[in-house]
Amino acid sequence: MWHTTPMRDVSRIQSAVRDVPDFPKPGIVFKDITPVLGDGKLFREVIDFFADTLAGKGVTKIVGIDARGFIFASAVAYKLGVGFVPVRKKGKLPWKTRAAEYDLEYGSAIVEIHLDAVAPGEKVALIDDVLATGGTAAAALKLLHSCGAEVVCAQFLMELGFLHGREKLGGVVVDSILIY
Ligand code: AMP
Repeated sequence: MWHTTPMRDVSRIQSAVRDVPDFPKPGIVFKDITPVLGDGKLFREVIDFFADTLAGKGVTKIVGIDARGFIFASAVAYKLGVGFVPVRKKGKLPWKTRAAEYDLEYGSAIVEIHLDAVAPGEKVALIDDVLATGGTAAAALKLLHSCGAEVVCAQFLMELGFLHGREKLGGVVVDSILIY
């Protein structure tokens, strides 16, 4: 395990992430972030890491991916004093939406964004908890690009580097606090 930014001391965050083998099904090691969220100092550290990277970059919306991405994205938006935008699983957003489909191990899934959530040319950052195969984040990026957004950065608490998810993100700058 290493981290992307040498200035960051991520050891306390890394120690708090709990590996849960065979959840939600055999063969998956689930990265449980609830011990990080439950520790006020660590939660603040994560939010500060994300927000510090974005400071001064002219970002006006933080886009969170359903559901754990919301936890971080809303706090970062609050810290930077900018808007929060949810990318949600199909059928959850009440108004007119744009949709993107992506492949899962078995079958596919759809994520949606409100048509007026991001203006053309607006600078945004995307946040989620885990970058695994990259399918979810790639679908969210597709939505943002079709809105005309300029995606300054895609941020993750952790990246499962061995799954090469960042290769699906089309050259968008990726900032992961932990890389496995
Ligand atoms: P993917 O589309 O494969 O990059 O998966 C990313 C989404 O699935 C994220 O929203 C994560 O919350 C979740 N996810 C994928 N793999 C894991 C894992 N090993 N532990 C926890 N969450 C995961």
